[in-house]
Amino acid sequence: MSLLEKIKSLSQAYSGQVVEYRRYLHANPELSYQEFNTVKYVDDKLRSFGIHKIENLATTGLVAEVKGKNPDKKTIALRADMDALPIVEANNVPYKSKNEGVMHACGHDVHTSSLLGTAKILHDLRDQFEGTVRFLFQPGEEKNPGGASYMIRDGALENPRPAGIIGQHVFPLLPAGKIGFREGMYMASADEIYLRVIGKGGHGAAPDLAIDPIVIASHIIIALQQIISRNASPKQPTVLTFGNIIGKGATNIIPDEVNIAGTFRAMNEVWRESGLEKIKKMAESIAEGMGGRCEVDISRGYPYLENNPELTRRLKLAAEEYVGKENVYDIDITLGAEDFAYYSQIIPASFYRLGTSNVEKGIKSYVHTPTFDIDEDALKIGPGLMAWMAVKELELV
Ligand SMILES: [Zn+2]
Ligand SMILES: [Zn+2]
Repeated sequence: MSLLEKIKSLSQAYSGQVVEYRRYLHANPELSYQEFNTVKYVDDKLRSFGIHKIENLATTGLVAEVKGKNPDKKTIALRADMDALPIVEANNVPYKSKNEGVMHACGHDVHTSSLLGTAKILHDLRDQFEGTVRFLFQPGEEKNPGGASYMIRDGALENPRPAGIIGQHVFPLLPAGKIGFREGMYMASADEIYLRVIGKGGHGAAPDLAIDPIVIASHIIIALQQIISRNASPKQPTVLTFGNIIGKGATNIIPDEVNIAGTFRAMNEVWRESGLEKIKKMAESIAEGMGGRCEVDISRGYPYLENNPELTRRLKLAAEEYVGKENVYDIDITLGAEDFAYYSQIIPASFYRLGTSNVEKGIKSYVHTPTFDIDEDALKIGPGLMAWMAVKELELV
C-alpha cells in the first residue's frame, strides 16, 4: 500500500472519532482567550494517541510534535484555531452549544478536531516519513490582537523554525468534498477606526451659537471615502466602512459630540500604513477647519495575508492527488481577515479552504451566523488531506 493509500484509509477509519471530537467541541464552545477546557481536551486526546505536548503557549494554546525518521531534517507546522464566537446558536442539532450565547460559528471546532485526526494519522505513520510535524493549537483567532501573535511571541515558530506553515478553514461557499486554494494575495489587513468628533452642543434653532458635530461628522464620512477612490491604487483592493454612528442630540438639540466606528482593510502593508495616516490627518483637519476637533483612535488588527505562491502551488498538487483534480478549485480573494496572516509574515504560509456546505441537506449558512453548520462528510477528508500535505512537504529537501 502506498503512503497516500495508508493515509486515506486511516483518515476514513478515524473519521467517526473525529466527528465525535468535533461534536464535543461544538457543544462546549469557549470564547477567545478562554479556551481552558478546549486546550485540556486537545491535550488529553493527543496524550491518548501517544503524543505528548511540548508546552502550553499563549496561556490557552498548545504545541505538540510528531517526529518521523531523521526528525531534524525539516519541520512543517500545521495550525488549528480553537475559539468560538459570542452568538446564540439557532441550530437544532444533538450537538447544539450547551454554553448559551457562545457558538462555534466559524468552524474552529472543525479545524481543531480535524488537526487532532491529522496528528493521530501521522503518529501512526511516524516511521514512514522524514522530518517533524509541529501542531499549533492556538487561541483567540476571533479577537484582537489575535492568538497567532501570542503563539509567535511565545516561540511557536522557533527551535527550529519550520520551513512552512499550513492552515485550514471551513468554507460554506464550496460543497463538502471540494478544496479551495489561492496563490499570493488572499486576505486583508483589518484595522478598527474610532472617531470622536467634538463640537459644542446647543439649541437646534440656534446653530450659530453651536459647533455642530453632526455636520462635521457627515463631511468626514464622505471625505474619507475619497481616500479609497482617489488615493488608493485602483489595482489594490481596499475598503473603508463605517458601520456605527452615534450622535445623541434630538430634532431640536445639537449634541456635543458624535462617535463613529468603522473598519479599514487593505491587501498591501505599505498602503495600509499610508491609508491609516491619511484617515487620521483628513478627519482631524476637516473637524478643525469647521471649528471642532476630532480624536482618532486606531485599533490595529491583523496584517494582510499572503499565501506563499510556491508552497500553495505544491499543496494544490498534493490536494489534487488526494481528492482528484476535479475537486480542487482556485478561489477568489476576500477582504475578510485572519490572524494566520501573522505566521505568513515570518515563514512561507498557506491558508486553504475545506468545502463544508451541502445544499441538499440544507447546510449552507455562512460563517458567523446563528445557523452555521457543516456537512460532517468534510471530516472524512480534512484530517488525511492535511497529513498528506505535510508528508509531501517533508519529502522535499
Ligand atoms: Zn471567524
Ligand atoms: Zn475562522
